[in-house]
Amino acid sequence: MTPAVDEVRSLYLHIPFCERKCEYCDFTSVAGATGSAAYMEALNEEVRHLGTCLGRLTLDTVFIGGGTPSLVEPELLARLVAVVHDTFSVTADAEVTMEANPSSISAARARVWKAAGVNRVSIGVQSLEADALHFLGRVHDADRALAAVDDVREAGFTSINCDLIYAVPGLGDVRWRRTLERVAAARPTHISCYELTVEPGTPLHTRVTRGQVTPVDGARAMRQHRIALEVLGLAGYDQYEVSNFALSGEECRHNLVYWRNGYYAAAGVGAHGHLPADAAAAIGLDVEAGAVSVRHWHGRGIAAYARAVRAGAFPITGSEPVGPAMREQERVMLGLRLREGVRLGAASLDEAHSLEGLGLLAVDGDRVRATERGEALLNQVTLRLVGDWAA
Ligand code: SF4
Repeated sequence: MTPAVDEVRSLYLHIPFCERKCEYCDFTSVAGATGSAAYMEALNEEVRHLGTCLGRLTLDTVFIGGGTPSLVEPELLARLVAVVHDTFSVTADAEVTMEANPSSISAARARVWKAAGVNRVSIGVQSLEADALHFLGRVHDADRALAAVDDVREAGFTSINCDLIYAVPGLGDVRWRRTLERVAAARPTHISCYELTVEPGTPLHTRVTRGQVTPVDGARAMRQHRIALEVLGLAGYDQYEVSNFALSGEECRHNLVYWRNGYYAAAGVGAHGHLPADAAAAIGLDVEAGAVSVRHWHGRGIAAYARAVRAGAFPITGSEPVGPAMREQERVMLGLRLREGVRLGAASLDEAHSLEGLGLLAVDGDRVRATERGEALLNQVTLRLVGDWAA
C-alpha cells in the first residue's frame, strides 16, 4: 500500500553553528554564530513552507540538531519551536529534543528552552578525559560537562542524553571505563556511545594520512564497545540500539523512527529527510514511477540556503527514490541495529536460521536480532538476508 503524507510524524531541524570545528567532524557546521539570527529566520520560513505543502502534520517527535543549537540565542530557539507549533499539530506528549554542548549550556539558557517546549536535551559530553577532549578539538572540560548535566536538570529537564566517543587514540580501556562510570553516576536518562570514525575531508583525516595519528585498531574499538555494554548495563542502562543505552522508557523516540525506517520531514542547511512518495511530490521532488518513498538532502552552504528559502524554494540539492526492494533492505539493515530486532518475510527465514547457526543472529519466530558478533558484521548479514537492491 502506498504510504500517505500523514505517516510523517517526525521533524528534523538543523542548526549549523558551533563554537569551533572539531577535528573529526563532517557534519554540516561552521565555527562561530555569525549570521545565526538571519539563518534562524530562514529556517522558520522553511518550516512554514513545509506546512503549506504538507499540511498541518501531526508530530510525535521534533529533533533540533546540529551543529550546536545551544549556541544560538535561546530566544531564537524559542521562536523556532513556536513556529513549529503554529505550523504543525505537535502532540501533547511529543518528544522535543535539542542538542547542546557543555560550553553553551547554563541553567538560565536551559530554562528558556524548557519554557519554549523543548523537553529533552542531548549533551555532547564526548569524554571526561582532558587529553581525549583536546584530541577531539572540544572546548569544554570534564567539570563543565558534568555541570552542564546539573544545569539542565536544575532548569527542569528530566530527559537528558550524554553523547560519548570511544576508540579515541591515546584513550586506554581503563580511562574509557572511568568516563563511562562517571557519566553514569551523573544519571542522565540516556547515553550514546559512538566509535570515533575518520571521515574524509576532516582535519583528523589529514593527520591520519600524514601519519601523525594512528587510528585505534578494530580489536580495541570492539573491546571498548564491550566495556560500555558492561559498565552501562551494571548501572541500569539497557542497550536498545547498537550505540544507544537508556533507562527504562527513556529511549529516544525520534531516533527510533530512523531505525524503524519511518518517515520524517526535514528543514535546515544540510538536513536529510525521508518522505513517502506523495509527500515528496508535494514539496516538489521528482518521484520515479514505482518509488515508495524519497530520501532527500539540503545543500551545505548557509548563504545559498537562506537565498533559496527567501526565493520561496526548498533548498534541496539531492534526492534518491526508494523502491520496494531497497526499502525492504533498509528496513532490515536498520532494524538489525535494534535490540527489539526486525520481522522477516518467510523467504528470508531459512537464511536467518543459517546465520543463527553461525552465531550472528538470534531468531524468535519471524523476528530476528543481531548478536554481538552479528552487530560487527551488519552489512554482510543484511546482504545475506535480503540481497542487494542495486545488484
Ligand atoms: S560540536 Fe558537533 S557539530 Fe559542532 S564541530 Fe563539533 S562535532 Fe561537529
